Amino acid sequence: MTRNFRQELLTASGGFHEKYKTKEVIGRGLSSVVQRCIHRTTGKEYAVKVIELADDSMTDAQLDEVRRSTLNEVEILQTVSGHRSIITLIDFFSSATVAFLVFDLMKQGELFDYLTKKVTLKERETRVMMQELLQAVEYLHSRHVVHRDVKAENILLDDGLHIRLSDFGFSCLLRPGQRLRELCGTPSYLAPELLKCSMDETHPGYGMEVDMWACGVVMYTVVSGFPPFWHRKQLTMMHNIMEGKYQMNSSEWQDRSHTIKDLIFRMLTVDPSLRITAEQALSHPFFYSHKLEEQPFTSLQKFRVVVWVIVLCARLWANQRHRRPVSQNDLIQDAYRMRLGRRLIDGHAFRLYSHWVKRGLVQNRAALFQNTPRALAEEVHLNHDSSLH
Ligand code: ADP
Ligand code: MG
Repeated sequence: MTRNFRQELLTASGGFHEKYKTKEVIGRGLSSVVQRCIHRTTGKEYAVKVIELADDSMTDAQLDEVRRSTLNEVEILQTVSGHRSIITLIDFFSSATVAFLVFDLMKQGELFDYLTKKVTLKERETRVMMQELLQAVEYLHSRHVVHRDVKAENILLDDGLHIRLSDFGFSCLLRPGQRLRELCGTPSYLAPELLKCSMDETHPGYGMEVDMWACGVVMYTVVSGFPPFWHRKQLTMMHNIMEGKYQMNSSEWQDRSHTIKDLIFRMLTVDPSLRITAEQALSHPFFYSHKLEEQPFTSLQKFRVVVWVIVLCARLWANQRHRRPVSQNDLIQDAYRMRLGRRLIDGHAFRLYSHWVKRGLVQNRAALFQNTPRALAEEVHLNHDSSLH
């Protein structure tokens, strides 16, 4: 920890603007605005988190709380910065009214936004991402730091899509054997023991294990494209969390390996004393068994692939030469056999029913296309209009 930084933070210069030039806003949190900024002498880009420490609308107690938590965030960041999967605090400045925390810039933003674009990650991509996240959590826990807000919005991606865990606003140092009772974090990521503890005064409290539960929620979400415990009624969601009630039988899970499900299951274990630790998770077969399956090709296998490609190209070429135009007879006999026919038929079926035919019983995303009476009425109206013109 740097010399006397506690004092520096409270009394320090507001020299941020002398050293950095601020640019556009790249993110917002509950208590902060994050902007891109440029170091005036080197021209290097960074991200600055600007936290207001004084606000007319805040009570004295709230102001004290913001100051205390900012101080805590900086203290923890200084303890853990340097790990390659944890955000690095480059610089910080503070005046009586505002604090500036300068970080390395994560150009690809939040994992949350990346997921919105990609919906789900492939098994290989999940493996790399989860390994980096678990390494970060293992490092924190080995230094007695519990993060308490691991979630897709606080996992940031750099240019090469490597992750760094950020936002240490809720994190704290935990002495061996010490338990916590405070209710904090993000609802759909809260661990069962954290919820139980907030409802029962006799509960012994919670510890580091809450981060592993949140890692389980992140992993479930990146694999399936939807969170394990989300429910529009918060009470039902809390109940499902405390009971560990989630499903893995929708179509999104059908072609997922046993090892990926097993690791998620071990992280989403309700009893914290039985839940897998970060260190144990990193030795789980999910991170190793694929290496046995991914044997390099032998020369014979390579030769076979080359022959197979040549034969296929020759056949395609021959087919192309003898292709005849589609006749009316072909269309009448079996239109669905031809690609063009299939596209026409499927397109019309979609327009008529307003959704693709469901494959499984609980296919979540199909709900986006559900055939509600309103959608059907609009469809009929549309068809009516177009037939008039
Ligand atoms: P809060 O504690 O208020 O939630 P965060 O530290 O989570 O603040 O930052 C808010 C948002 O700003 C993040 O979710 C992310 O989108 C963006 N952000 C934060 N740090 C960086 C960074 N180093 N690089 C790029 N974007 C960042
Ligand atoms: Mg945040």
